[in-house]
Amino acid sequence: MSAIIIDGKTIAQGLREQVARDAAALPVKPGLAVILVGDDPASQIYVRNKIKACEGAGIRSFESRLPGKVSQAEVAAEIQAFNDNPNVHGILLQLPVPAHLDGNKLVQMIAPEKDVDGLGIVNAGKLILGTGGGLVACTPQGAMILIKSVLKDLSGLEAVVIGRSNLFGKPMAQLLLQENCTVTSAHSRTKDLREVCKRADILVAAVGRAKMVKADWVKPGACVIDVGINRDEAGQLCGDVDFAAVKGVASSITPVPGGVGPMTIACLLSNTVLAAAATAKRRAKASGEP
Ligand code: NAP
Repeated sequence: MSAIIIDGKTIAQGLREQVARDAAALPVKPGLAVILVGDDPASQIYVRNKIKACEGAGIRSFESRLPGKVSQAEVAAEIQAFNDNPNVHGILLQLPVPAHLDGNKLVQMIAPEKDVDGLGIVNAGKLILGTGGGLVACTPQGAMILIKSVLKDLSGLEAVVIGRSNLFGKPMAQLLLQENCTVTSAHSRTKDLREVCKRADILVAAVGRAKMVKADWVKPGACVIDVGINRDEAGQLCGDVDFAAVKGVASSITPVPGGVGPMTIACLLSNTVLAAAATAKRRAKASGEP
């Protein structure tokens, strides 16, 4: 068997084009603020890519670069300024922040209606309660779009998510549960991880360990989603899955790069447009428009 390679780049491009059309149809120009603290090279690249993607989607970007030694209060003041700015509909604090700052506390200061990363308590809570109407974390949202590009009905399928971070693993597990999968959240204390993974019809790996998931961890015919971003021994970008070996066992698989990665930015743009649309609706209602 040779798996279908899920083309995240093309699917993300389609989503970005849709986002640009949605943005153009709004009565307001959507705005995204990105806050970067310090000079971590990887974070600088991520922020640059996010700003560039905004331009292509008709979203105004606001960039705030703060020095690495900035205080918690100064970052909080920057977040508050964007919370108060009516031209900003989405705020993203690029993580991780330097160790002397409490990143989680700062994320919680972002107004829920502008929390386009979906990491605040209000949006994470809406996801868990299944109320809808919240902003869903970008990478799991993107991973779910990729899963649905190959599986039309997820109901009753066994899903295993390796990793339980707030950023990815927990919201991913919730999204799979909402689709009526039987979900296992695996992590560093999981016993016999290989056997747990072998049960999965959908296997999602988000650990940060190069090529950890081997071919004999994968049920024949499974859909394998690789979230990890690592460097292999030759310095090449690779995921958490041993792609070359696993593609001979799985029915579908995401590559790294070109799988989940491009979906994250596309979903960030999508969340920003959703946030702007919700603001426009609230303003219209407040001014008595039908
Ligand atoms: P994280 O916060 O470091 O979480 C890693 C998770 O993996 C933890 O839950 C940890 O378990 C688990 N883990 C560690 N070693 C393990 C092992 N040997 N066996 C089983 N589980 C193990 O990382 P993250 O933020 O979720 O990111 C995970 C990976 O995805 C990273 O490579 C990151 O770069 C990538 N990522 C990519 C994107 C994208 O846009 N493509 C977005 C986000 C993240 P414990 O909880 O028990 O410690």
